[in-house]
Amino acid sequence: MTKYGFLGIGIMGKAMATNLLNAGLDVTVWNRTAAACTPLIDLGAKQGKTAADVVAHCDITFAMVSDPEAANALCFGKDGVLEGICEGKSYIDISTVDADTSNAICHAIKEKGGRFLEAPVSGSKKPAEDGSLVFLCAGDQSLYEDAVDALDVMGKKSFYFPRMGQGAQMKLVINMIMGTMMTAFAEGLNLGDKIGLEKTDILDVIAQGAITSPMFQLKGPLMVKENFSTAFPLKHMQKDMRLALLLGDAHGQPLYTSAAANNAYIKARQDNCGDEDFSAVIKNV
Ligand code: NAP
Repeated sequence: MTKYGFLGIGIMGKAMATNLLNAGLDVTVWNRTAAACTPLIDLGAKQGKTAADVVAHCDITFAMVSDPEAANALCFGKDGVLEGICEGKSYIDISTVDADTSNAICHAIKEKGGRFLEAPVSGSKKPAEDGSLVFLCAGDQSLYEDAVDALDVMGKKSFYFPRMGQGAQMKLVINMIMGTMMTAFAEGLNLGDKIGLEKTDILDVIAQGAITSPMFQLKGPLMVKENFSTAFPLKHMQKDMRLALLLGDAHGQPLYTSAAANNAYIKARQDNCGDEDFSAVIKNV
């Protein structure tokens, strides 16, 4: 039976590892703050002592951490992934990072004889809980094929892109669109409110037309109630906008509306909304 590891038990990691356990798979978990692992241990997970320990004892280890800094610390830091990886061991980083970070981790894993796949996900807390994420993969194709059963437990669809880094890049393009959609939506709700339109009426009209979207339908009613309980932390949205803008800059692609949206997320972080849901940006537009 394949032994799976899971590093990073945050909002997404907890839901994804729970689905692996509920599917009857053998899962060992580790989180920087160990207490986050307790609910998974209660479901039957084993507790790893360190990230290196998990990678050394499992066949395929997933990681789901905040950002490039966290992904690098987890891989290259003390007791990190590189200390446990060797031939026969595989590492799949699901975190949203830039392609340079992903490529550097891939290179280091391969140098030690391991296999690497980047597999960031489209979808948030609810799809993670429902097992309906979309995986955006690139890297070792044989690992993609070996991991597909576990990916199918956690997601509804997996893409495999031919060039390493394209999974990370696809994820940034998608989230840049999403972040910009959210600020436009928030501005529309605020403008309507200011001129005396009911926000709920705006939602009803949107729902009947061509700009309707599952995101507006999910977030709109919560935003009207000023419920910003966190599914996707605003600080991670701003990180994704920043990484997408850097990508645009590096490739000479102007990103006018995304740059403006990024400023709204920066301001929201300054106003201590970083740990709220990204829809809390409505307070800053
Ligand atoms: P989260 O709840 O903030 O969890 C972040 C995780 O990263 C925690 O387990 C945290 O450990 C760990 N971490 C942070 N810095 C670390 C370090 N230096 N070394 C080791 N571990 C570290 O975030 P999340 O919402 O689950 O998101 C995780 C990733 O998925 C991010 O890249 C995000 O952009 C992406 N993503 C999120 C969503 C979403 O809707 N939430 C959707 C798609 C993709 P501690 O518990 O010790 O802090």
